[in-house]
Amino acid sequence: MSILDTIVWRVDASNPDPAVLAEAGQMIRRGRLVAFPTETVYGLGANALDVEAVEALFAAKGRPRDNPLILHLAAAEDLFPYVREVPPLATKLMGAFWPGPLTLVFFGTGRLPAVVTGGLGTIAARVPAHPVALGIIRAAGVPVVAPSANLSGRPSPTTAAHVLADLRGRIDAVVDGGPTPLGIESTVLDLTGKVPRVLRRGAVSSSEIADVAGVMPEEAPEAAEKDFRCRLRVPLILVEGEAQAVVEKIRSLYTAFAAEGKRVGILTREERAGDYPGQVVPCGREGDTRSVGACLYAALRQLETVADVILAEGLPAEAGAALQRRLRQAASEVVRAEREP
Ligand code: AMP
Ligand code: MG
Repeated sequence: MSILDTIVWRVDASNPDPAVLAEAGQMIRRGRLVAFPTETVYGLGANALDVEAVEALFAAKGRPRDNPLILHLAAAEDLFPYVREVPPLATKLMGAFWPGPLTLVFFGTGRLPAVVTGGLGTIAARVPAHPVALGIIRAAGVPVVAPSANLSGRPSPTTAAHVLADLRGRIDAVVDGGPTPLGIESTVLDLTGKVPRVLRRGAVSSSEIADVAGVMPEEAPEAAEKDFRCRLRVPLILVEGEAQAVVEKIRSLYTAFAAEGKRVGILTREERAGDYPGQVVPCGREGDTRSVGACLYAALRQLETVADVILAEGLPAEAGAALQRRLRQAASEVVRAEREP
């Protein structure tokens, strides 16, 4: 693969320069790879109708070819040429969640190249809720595939700096619209079976889906959710359990690693930032899921640059299964902290 001179454009996320959106959209239409912010994470956009562009996208990310891509559309009606039918439940969910972080899986019409869909016969699609993403997709005038703009297996990028750290020289451009608001990926919901089924947990919870759908979706088992298994550069030990026991366990692990001369990074909530020694990175507030989601990937990327080992506080189930699973999948080891008898 040749080395590209990756262009960086800066825009205001809420009021982006239309000239930049137009140029970025035209580049995608012509077969180039352009990264841009969505409300979830940065996506790497390519023209879904251009087989060579989609193949170049898989190569740039080092993404396995059997992992299908999500179609990003500027409006719900742009979906119709590519899906066999839009069931009533889909219409309801699209009305409630689009634009937004819910990806829906439909039966396809076969009008998209097989490289997009992994030859599955189904199509995953969403309309992102971000003025930069929407503006670029509209300007492209074609459906755009936009998987996360990271090297496959790395934490998803939530800033343009993360995109450049992984993909500078491998993609044509990145539109920098600042940090992405949600910070975790969309929820993927399969509507091709008898009951709706969550294939990947994400920014929309199953209970939020149930509120609209009138039924609780099935959930794919944890083992089937390979999407966000991420490799950090250093080991991460996740400590789960009752809050005070977790603090004590992390403090004792810190002492042991520090005695070996290791630089120790600690991932905690803002309330407990003062409770630890070492390189402490507070991410989010206790009981505020959204605030944790917004900084989780950025905190992991920051910690791996300053530490030889990361000790992370577990997230309670109330913080949402999506976040808990992402952290577990980033961990090299999960330990349970027990209170001293
Ligand atoms: P991303 O890595 O964010 O691009 O998301 C890709 C994920 O969306 C895949 O790993 C699947 O979980 C899901 N997905 C995409 N396309 C399809 C499809 N045609 N059928 C079922 N799931 C899909
Ligand atoms: Mg990804």
